[in-house]
Amino acid sequence: MIVKTESEYAGMRAASKVVKAALAAAERFIRPGVTTLEIDSVVEETIRGMGAIPSSKGFGGFPNACCVSVNDVVVHGIPSLRVVKDGDIVSVDITALLNGYQGDAARTFAVGNVSAQDLALIDAAKAAFEAGIGHAKAGNRVGDVSSAIQLYTELHGYGVVRALTGHGIGKKMHEAPEVPNFGRAHTGAPLKVGMCLAIEPMITAGDWRVYIERDGWTVRTADGKNAAHYENTVIITDGAPEILTV
Ligand code: MG
Repeated sequence: MIVKTESEYAGMRAASKVVKAALAAAERFIRPGVTTLEIDSVVEETIRGMGAIPSSKGFGGFPNACCVSVNDVVVHGIPSLRVVKDGDIVSVDITALLNGYQGDAARTFAVGNVSAQDLALIDAAKAAFEAGIGHAKAGNRVGDVSSAIQLYTELHGYGVVRALTGHGIGKKMHEAPEVPNFGRAHTGAPLKVGMCLAIEPMITAGDWRVYIERDGWTVRTADGKNAAHYENTVIITDGAPEILTV
């Protein structure tokens, strides 16, 4: 949506604050030995404790409050009895609904002693986001953001997932426009002041191709190499965007 009034801005900020708190709670909780379902419980308690609703629960039949994706799972991992181990990387993607507004963000967390390659992968996802938002301002187009993310990612030797994209956000979790992490500058929907977007590079240590498991959700890299995800809800302005979930 394009927010215009103060109360719409406040609504988006408040929902994003819940997501931020839930991500922080997940980060504090994650350690070797916990299950992805326990991570989900911590997230759900945090969201509900703030009077919000976990948007993922029941969305298209998704069973849990958030997505927890380990190692080569890119996104949409279903929380389970899987135990996270020392050296794993765990992506947590959270959307919360508060007073009619949605906030959406994701981080990849390192569990214990993680390889230097995986730490660099996690950092690159964040840096790719930052490269993208450097172009996310009114008057530019979605493709300016997309191409900046792709350029950064590929320049550093990583793959950009094509099958999933960022998106508009507002009163619904997913709204127009799509915000791909690849594409051409000067193309796509024009960015406008007040436009709310979830910008979310999903990058891979190897090839960018992915497949969906038979559960209909879990997205894995085709080559089995690890992936990282970094997402924030932002509001477009005439200058640097307002990043709501950091
Ligand atoms: Mg998300």
